[in-house]
Amino acid sequence: MNKKNAPSPAGKNAASLPERKTSPAPETKTSPVSEGNAFPLPEEKALTPKARRQIPRAPMPEQEPQARSRNFEEVNLGLNVLDAVTEASRCIACAKPRCVVDCPVGVKIKEVVALIRKGDFLGAAAKLREDNSLPAITGRVCPQEKQCEGGCILGQKGAPVAIGNLERFVADYERQSGQLGLPPNAPSTGKSVAIVGSGPAGLSAAGDLVQKGHRVRVFEALHEVGGVLVYGIPEFRLPKSIVKSEVDNLRRMGVEFETNVVVGKSVTIDELMRDEHYDAVFVATGAGLPQFLNVPGEHLNGVYSANEFLTRVNLMRAYQADEYDEPLYDCRGKDVIVVGGGNTAMDAVRTARRLGAKTATLVYRRSEVEMPARAEEVKHARQEGIEFRLLTNPIEFIGDEKGCLTGARCVRMELSEPDASGRRRPVEIKGSEFLLPADVVIIGVGTTANPLVQGSTPGLKTTPRNYIVADPETLRTSKRGVFAGGDIVTGGATVILAMGAGRKAAASIHEFLTTGEWEKAGDME
Ligand SMILES: Cc1cc2nc3c(=O)[nH]c(=O)nc-3n(C[C@H](O)[C@H](O)[C@H](O)COP(=O)(O)OP(=O)(O)OC[C@H]3O[C@@H](n4cnc5c(N)ncnc54)[C@H](O)[C@@H]3O)c2cc1C
Ligand code: SF4
Repeated sequence: MNKKNAPSPAGKNAASLPERKTSPAPETKTSPVSEGNAFPLPEEKALTPKARRQIPRAPMPEQEPQARSRNFEEVNLGLNVLDAVTEASRCIACAKPRCVVDCPVGVKIKEVVALIRKGDFLGAAAKLREDNSLPAITGRVCPQEKQCEGGCILGQKGAPVAIGNLERFVADYERQSGQLGLPPNAPSTGKSVAIVGSGPAGLSAAGDLVQKGHRVRVFEALHEVGGVLVYGIPEFRLPKSIVKSEVDNLRRMGVEFETNVVVGKSVTIDELMRDEHYDAVFVATGAGLPQFLNVPGEHLNGVYSANEFLTRVNLMRAYQADEYDEPLYDCRGKDVIVVGGGNTAMDAVRTARRLGAKTATLVYRRSEVEMPARAEEVKHARQEGIEFRLLTNPIEFIGDEKGCLTGARCVRMELSEPDASGRRRPVEIKGSEFLLPADVVIIGVGTTANPLVQGSTPGLKTTPRNYIVADPETLRTSKRGVFAGGDIVTGGATVILAMGAGRKAAASIHEFLTTGEWEKAGDME
């Protein structure tokens, strides 16, 4: 490799670098890697750890805030080849990489990054897929600042390696190269597994199980496959085409999907096992039942749960109001308030903005430090003109004589001692009430377990809050042959945790189907 072509370690010689393009991976059927790396790569030995630390983090190209706050196109545009290789060159290859420890599924980040640095993007993708079956998705939505990037040692004195952006780059590159290396399935075992729910937990379990030679059929209550990845997370953060491409890969591998089947209503788990002869069932139904504030006026026209709002926009094309007649309060020119501080609330308020809201305001009872939303989403929301009313809590919604919402009566809050969640508890400031005008209020304060499957499955042990009890190691439930994982066990968590649970369940189901042994875990009695 020519030393002259190496990207500048300190970013000082930026002028000598080839022009940066903002397109993601090339739209080509052949990999540039196999064509002899036509792009400049850094000279490995030339870069000392000190020099690596001096390379600035490659910025993620983005749509300009004013333009994107009026469209549903993806906000982040993806790194180009040169930026990805330069970013990978920042990694100092720690002997004991903390990023790997802090990734919930232990992606071999150091090895992946080293392959990117060498320009072997397909090799990097294959390495990623050893631990993470949905890298194009996790690269976009993982809260990296709390996980892998939170552990990166460069973050102690500067910006951590952009692991999420690199993961996305590699996965997009692989997809667009058309060279996805799907491993062959094992010979048929003659066993069949029913998976209930097609979110990340169900999808990742399906992929692993079909590869082990089992017949796999996924039952999904909605008309689209993908769970929260399609009905919750909006297009501007995670394009549906990315999820569809992962689902298409699963179909190619032999996974069967049946939509519009509400297990617990259309068919029960006992019927699946007794009448349809499934040898095992994996319940991955998520935690999609919205929670409300339980304050007066929540019944008024114009008050929605974030779950309903986002589902109508995502799956029922409410964002094409001129063409589709979806019953959703028109946000155009309206004052919209979203209550909450997590990813769901952030997605809802940014969606309202894109639907033409005059004002889109986030009301959150704690401060920004306690917000559970991904840091990047908070930054993007601010750039898009979302107003943040922090340390504020609605106590009543006000309506007119026709039952239509007109405003939210709110109080100001202050933070006291930490509560059970470890976050400082918000306390009402007496006499601080004020009225916020609103035509639409969207409640995004969390979700809980949908009870359908639990209620229709005798012998399935649940917690007092109706989550399914499953052994943390084997994901076996109290009912023979039935496993459970993802949000339906943990409560609302993250995509990567749900995916990790799916993979764990697949390994455990495979063991059960192979040995026929069913040991009851201690707390399953
Ligand atoms: C709006 C929103 C934004 C989020 N943003 C992020 C983010 O940026 N990063 C992140 O890591 N996490 C995020 N999360 C959380 C993450 O999406 C979830 O933790 C994850 O999707 C859980 O996966 P799961 O497979 O357990 O369940 P889900 O994704 O909820 O999938 C469950 C599936 O089961 C189906 N189902 C339910 N009951 C039945 C039944 N009886 N019969 C048949 N099918 C059924 C549902 O329709 C659904 O498709 C977000 C969540 C929401 C709601
Ligand atoms: S899966 Fe998520 S946490 Fe793990 S390396 Fe990828 S982006 Fe980071």
